[in-house]
Amino acid sequence: MAAAMELCGNPSSVHAEGRRARAMIETAREQVASLVNAKPLEVVFTSGATEANAWVIGAGGWDVILSSGIEHDSVRGPVAASMAQHVPIGVSAPGVVAIDDIARFALQDIRSGDRSLVALQFANNETGILQPVAEVAAFAREHGLVVHTDAVQAAGKVPVDFKALDVDALSLSGHKLGGPAGVGALIIRDGVKLGTLITGGGQERRRRAGTENLIGIVGFGAAAAAARQGLADIARITGLRDRLESGIKAITPGAVIVGADAARLPNTTSVALPGQAAETLVIKLDLAGIAVSEGAACSSGKVGVSHVLAAMGLGPEITSSAIRVSLGWNTSEADVAAFLETWARVARPREVRAVA
Ligand code: PLP
Repeated sequence: MAAAMELCGNPSSVHAEGRRARAMIETAREQVASLVNAKPLEVVFTSGATEANAWVIGAGGWDVILSSGIEHDSVRGPVAASMAQHVPIGVSAPGVVAIDDIARFALQDIRSGDRSLVALQFANNETGILQPVAEVAAFAREHGLVVHTDAVQAAGKVPVDFKALDVDALSLSGHKLGGPAGVGALIIRDGVKLGTLITGGGQERRRRAGTENLIGIVGFGAAAAAARQGLADIARITGLRDRLESGIKAITPGAVIVGADAARLPNTTSVALPGQAAETLVIKLDLAGIAVSEGAACSSGKVGVSHVLAAMGLGPEITSSAIRVSLGWNTSEADVAAFLETWARVARPREVRAVA
């Protein structure tokens, strides 16, 4: 990114400075493509995953969109705003979408000639629970449905293989894998019909006009390359996450780890402490220098019940007390120990002492 800052050329210019900037963007495109096993020409850089999700949902000319209540707001919002018919997909107790709902639509309700999109996240941002994307994509392909997956939380944490998944589009966000904020990508399978996101320039193969965010894109590429190496770290992070969760349970036996038995990301824990308000826990932990969030952090300032946990059918004692703890590539054993030491102070119910 520092090297990109030195350049003053516009990547679309033909002079040497411009060509150097172009080369940096194309290197980043290869790095991002290789993280998810896509072709570089399938990668379109955007300002982030919110833009990528809005693009695929808003510009596909869909007649029908199938999606569940556990999707991120950046999917739920454009789905709600779309003129397409919305077919809700249910969520079973462990937080996994009901494939039967998709099958029922494909086998019974689909109208011939309709363009139908299934929007299914790869991993949930609050619980880390993984969704059966490949299974849905295989079925969808057989029945002519287009599949988009929001892989923001999964990329760099678990292997994500665009080609093997056989989905049509996939969203990524730079800042979720160690890159800068304000950059992301939509991976669009070669040949999939999708309208232009922004007209008015030839950038990104005429799909998203506007001078590219050179520094952000270069940072995203570097982070994707590093994340690819870091995938080897999954076992270590999973071990730390398990230690964190068993430590929490030992200190506060009433704590509930949401989706504990489901297939999950290695780095995300949703922990609820019935009887304690999530907001209070977040503030107490923050005062101790530990940054956790209540539900989704990305639309900050939001206070209220998590739509994800509510869509999973969990009651208010869980939805009102759940916090999300995320680990990262740089989380150490000492960090987990520090968390648990703080947890013991802030989360354990006070002992009732007899007054003499
Ligand atoms: N999708 C998911 C699952 C997310 O967790 C987020 C943000 O945290 C987004 C989309 C939005 O990404 P961005 O911040 O790049 O717009």
